[in-house]
Amino acid sequence: MPAEEATPAIVLRTRDYMDSDRIVTLLTEQAGKLGGIAKGAKASRRRFEHRLEPFSHVMLYFRRRPHGQLVFITRAEAAELRPFRLEDDLGRLALGAYMLELAEALTSEDAEASGAYHLLAEALGALGAGEANTALRQAYELRMFRWAGFGMQFDRCRVCAENQTGSAPVYFIVGRGGIVCARCRERIPEWGIRLATASAEALVQLGCLPMAAASAATAAGADGALAIARFIASVVDRKLRSVEFLDSVIAPATRA
Ligand SMILES: [Zn+2]
Repeated sequence: MPAEEATPAIVLRTRDYMDSDRIVTLLTEQAGKLGGIAKGAKASRRRFEHRLEPFSHVMLYFRRRPHGQLVFITRAEAAELRPFRLEDDLGRLALGAYMLELAEALTSEDAEASGAYHLLAEALGALGAGEANTALRQAYELRMFRWAGFGMQFDRCRVCAENQTGSAPVYFIVGRGGIVCARCRERIPEWGIRLATASAEALVQLGCLPMAAASAATAAGADGALAIARFIASVVDRKLRSVEFLDSVIAPATRA
């Protein structure tokens, strides 16, 4: 029998299976993204004292199976891990659900993802302690995509590389994952999303702040949100189900 492994993990998604089992997708610190089956999860308080539900932060014990994709989850414990308290707040639940879905979309099974696990834990911790707002959402988007190898750039022109901080409006080019200056824009064929200076600056800041400081920072306006949304749609090959609801609960400010 394969050895039992243990790792901190965050539950991304669950579904019931048969009468008493549960199939769980988790983002783990040491084993990447995992799909597992928790036999008797709905009945066993002993092995699953901490319930396996989205947002659960658990020490996961599991065994791999020689054949088949799903691991056997043997136990899940709260251990010393920080719980994420998102209950009773629609904004937190909406943003939290989006954070889980984005983490799932940007990770793959059998690939190292400890950076993504730590980012998600940091973001859900900040969400439980503070306000669900556009700044926290944008900080998470920027940092999670950078972790996945899709860093977006808002301070230097992607063409001439000149620093654009504080200068005239810039243009976000989806296919280049960054901005171009007004001069270079006239020389390239792509269509760009015009970004106000304040939005570009806010995104530069949010991209390097700790999550705990993000919700108190300034968010980019609707122009910045549109740039990020278009970029995400160009990279993620599925429709994120949680976005529509999130957009109805938390909306970026519209700039004149
Ligand atoms: Zn330029």
